[in-house]
Amino acid sequence: MSKIKAITSSYEEFLLSEDALDKLKSLIQGDVLLPTDNEYDNARKIWNGMIDKCPALIVRCTGPADVIDAIKFAREHNILVSIRGGGHNVAGNALCDDGMVIDLSKMKGIHLDLKSKTVRAQAGVTLGELDRETQMFGLSVPSGIVTTTGIAGLTLGGGFGYISRKYGLSIDNLISVDIVTAEGEFLTASETENEDLFWGLRGGGGNFGVVTSFEYRLQKIGPIVLGGMLLHPMEDAREFLRFYRDFIADVPDELTVVPILRLAPAAPFLPKDVHGKPVVGVIVLYTGVIEKGEALIAPLRQYGTPLVDGIGPKPFRALQSMLDVSAQPGWNYYVKSEFLPALSNEIIDTLVEHASKITSPLSVIAGFHLGGAISHVDEDATAYSHRKAAYSLILNTTWRDPKESEKHIQWTREFWKALQPFSIGGAYINFQSQDEGDDRVQTTYGSAKLKRLSLLKRKYDPLNFFRLNRNIKP
Ligand SMILES: Cc1cc2nc3c(=O)[nH]c(=O)nc-3n(C[C@H](O)[C@H](O)[C@H](O)COP(=O)(O)OP(=O)(O)OC[C@H]3O[C@@H](n4cnc5c(N)ncnc54)[C@H](O)[C@@H]3O)c2cc1C
Repeated sequence: MSKIKAITSSYEEFLLSEDALDKLKSLIQGDVLLPTDNEYDNARKIWNGMIDKCPALIVRCTGPADVIDAIKFAREHNILVSIRGGGHNVAGNALCDDGMVIDLSKMKGIHLDLKSKTVRAQAGVTLGELDRETQMFGLSVPSGIVTTTGIAGLTLGGGFGYISRKYGLSIDNLISVDIVTAEGEFLTASETENEDLFWGLRGGGGNFGVVTSFEYRLQKIGPIVLGGMLLHPMEDAREFLRFYRDFIADVPDELTVVPILRLAPAAPFLPKDVHGKPVVGVIVLYTGVIEKGEALIAPLRQYGTPLVDGIGPKPFRALQSMLDVSAQPGWNYYVKSEFLPALSNEIIDTLVEHASKITSPLSVIAGFHLGGAISHVDEDATAYSHRKAAYSLILNTTWRDPKESEKHIQWTREFWKALQPFSIGGAYINFQSQDEGDDRVQTTYGSAKLKRLSLLKRKYDPLNFFRLNRNIKP
């Protein structure tokens, strides 16, 4: 083996010696993968097929001890570092060119405590894997809506999904985290231990260290709940969205109704004659007693003549995985997002105008329906921002042929530009794309919160060792 080209945290090239790599290999219980290894190319694939980065080495950790030694090695050689949890983030910061990836994707431990209704999960666990274990007992951690997403990146950004209006964000259910800092120190952060760090980890992203496990409170849900998708033709979109806006104005926290606009996917739960048609619709989930939910959503189902009404009692896990078919690993993704207030006529007009020009059959415009328990927590209680937003609107642009990238990205940018006048300020950090800069971090957190986060960064990572993220400068 010859020397390996690598890059420092200030992006200067250097050569890693064979001796140094041998020493690292002798310490790591997992894998140290180099470009010459058979598994390397597979290990550098992440969910977004647009991201093609070649790290100098990938350290696939099996536990905190590997993480500590990987960090010490990176510090000693001043090598640029990225952190990979589930590898789902669109911006692709889980990887880096010529640096070292601390890869947690093989850390899959899940330990349930049914007495205390808590669960501890390691940082490589995905949402689907966590639901598999917890739903066996009719329990769940509030999280997101695509099962292949990692709990790590999702939780550190906040984490919302179908049951967050009832039970809060993932971070609102977080009891503690185990973390390795930039100094290689292993800490626990909770409401009673390293409280300042715990505040920052709940919404501050991967800025403060490598989290090795998360301890959550479990909530009772399902296993059978009322939910599903309801679709109308796009030509009825304006009227339907106005009706939806009025219907949703004062529904209880048990009900979440996510509006979507897209071309209908070739999904098994949709009739064949609908596939590919421009549609507007909603995804519904009710967390309470099924009969009560049916009465509550009756007006929504009675509106007009839907193309499809797929709402009914279903396993919670089936609803959690309903969108997986539209979000497959290796496709090309480009995302823009904005926090929005309740839908005004102008917002609806803008959504319909640009959705009608959608360029890809795989792209989805979805308004994550927020409020409820998310908004009952004080804005300053955690680093997560914009708890009062009614929606986190996502333009999730998706396509398979890389040659089409320009056309789809252009459509997304024009759509996003048209939404700017309505934004309440910034976007969910987990929905920010690779071309968004420090100004977005600033508008998302606001000056006061960003200052508090910067001071915390100065305390726990003064050299900005963890810089490949929505970066908070020390
Ligand atoms: C189609 C789609 C659907 C989505 N749905 C939802 C949703 O319903 N709800 C929601 O809240 N979000 C959703 N997201 C966003 C999702 O939360 C982010 O993509 C998140 O970053 C994924 O986490 P990951 O661990 O898989 O990602 P990774 O790419 O592995 O990590 C992303 C970043 O998080 C940090 N990080 C990861 N692991 C660690 C760790 N162990 N320690 C420290 N830092 C770490 C790093 O900075 C890393 O660059 C969705 C995204 C897409 C594209």
